Amino acid sequence: MSLLTKSKYLNGLQCPRLLWFADRKQLPEISLFDEHKFSQGHEFEEYVKRLYQEGVDLDGLRFQDNIDKTQELVKEKKTIFEAGFRVGDLFVRSDLIIPNEDGWDLYEIKSTTQSKPQHIPDLAFQKYVLEKSGLKVKKSFLIYLNKEYVKDGEINLKQLITKDEVTDQVNLIDGIEKKINIFLDILKQENPPDIHICMQCNKPYECPLKSDCIETLPEYNVLQLTNWRLYWKLLADGIKDIKDIPEGTKLTPRDQIIMESLEKSPVISKEQIKHFLESLNYPLYHFDFETFDTAVPIYDKSRPYQKIPFQYSLHIEQEDGSTEHKEFLSEGNDPRPKLLEQMRRDLEGTGDIIVYNKSFEINVMKKLAEDFPEHKEWLEQALTRIVDLAAPFRSFHYYDKSQKGSYSIKEVLPAVTGKSYEELEIGNGGDASMLYFYSHIRPKLENKEEIRKNLLQYCGLDTEGMVWIVDRLKEIVQ
Ligand code: SF4
Repeated sequence: MSLLTKSKYLNGLQCPRLLWFADRKQLPEISLFDEHKFSQGHEFEEYVKRLYQEGVDLDGLRFQDNIDKTQELVKEKKTIFEAGFRVGDLFVRSDLIIPNEDGWDLYEIKSTTQSKPQHIPDLAFQKYVLEKSGLKVKKSFLIYLNKEYVKDGEINLKQLITKDEVTDQVNLIDGIEKKINIFLDILKQENPPDIHICMQCNKPYECPLKSDCIETLPEYNVLQLTNWRLYWKLLADGIKDIKDIPEGTKLTPRDQIIMESLEKSPVISKEQIKHFLESLNYPLYHFDFETFDTAVPIYDKSRPYQKIPFQYSLHIEQEDGSTEHKEFLSEGNDPRPKLLEQMRRDLEGTGDIIVYNKSFEINVMKKLAEDFPEHKEWLEQALTRIVDLAAPFRSFHYYDKSQKGSYSIKEVLPAVTGKSYEELEIGNGGDASMLYFYSHIRPKLENKEEIRKNLLQYCGLDTEGMVWIVDRLKEIVQ
């Protein structure tokens, strides 16, 4: 039988079905985006290792060699990275253990910018296995990234790395043995546990099996409602199809529109859309950034996980409908200085800057103003011109049932204009970001020129799509 590892224990805490599939290595293939997250975590661990230089690193040793070497080093009371412990069917590899006077301190390294409640059971399971192996764990710690750290020259390890003692929280976790026995039983089952989609599917992480499990739901299902408290309750009551929602159920105005759309789609509030369109100041600067981020900042004047813009597309639309397209795509290195120079010229003027989901563009621009004060004045002027094209869709002033509860541009564009992203090589911002990063910043993809062509096409469609949406809305309200 396979071993119950730390990650499987955590899978089991989230969902027995997830544990069963994870144990059989039947989870969907991980995306470039997930790979990036893992490699960022690994990179951060390497920085932590530099801070604890006395540590012996057992990473890379084979399974049994790692366990044997750990035993040897534990006897010698050494600081150990990647110490492996096996007790019966249980196995953990701890990020870092450090001997103290009469026991050991246990450290979990997380490439996050805060300690989170889900990190505690992780440490509690490790502590359980270490103590079964004969070690006395005195204290438990989380090591993570200091989100306020701003890179300025060489990475300052002491400023980058934060440590929280969580001994009390870890010691409060009980029932570990009982859970282990339940999980070991699940590993022996021939068929996956019959669990249905519910609140745990997003907690603490979005489950990798979610799209498979959602497929078992009807096309227009209660998960598409906007009131998550209601939809989890309906699911718990066995109500999956929107049309089966009992009469008299209290629905928010937006959820009423979703219900209404099943009878007649799209549902349009012409007056509200007219009001939105009449408030626009021409020319319209339809604008969209693409960004990437890294756990440990790679450029001066940047912080852990700061969104670094490397590309933008801009369609300038005049009131008569004519458009002009401008774009920027960095060649590599820190893209921000050149991007800012071109952006200043391209956005010059007074018309509204139309973005889709304004908080993203606003946050990126505010950070640019903070880190490059020589550009602060015009960026602040640009920020006052921002208008969110998502607003009428977020308010459900236009809703087509094909949007299935979403107001993302990927759903809205086809619903409103009949055009879509389907024929593009790149289908979402996450892919765009990863393809750029792994062809320009940490090159491991070979087809850089093709990637650049696809990136320009993808980002260009985002802003051209915004032009089409505005134009179509104008036709609708005429
Ligand atoms: S999507 Fe939900 S029900 Fe399905 S395996 Fe994941 S957590 Fe379990």
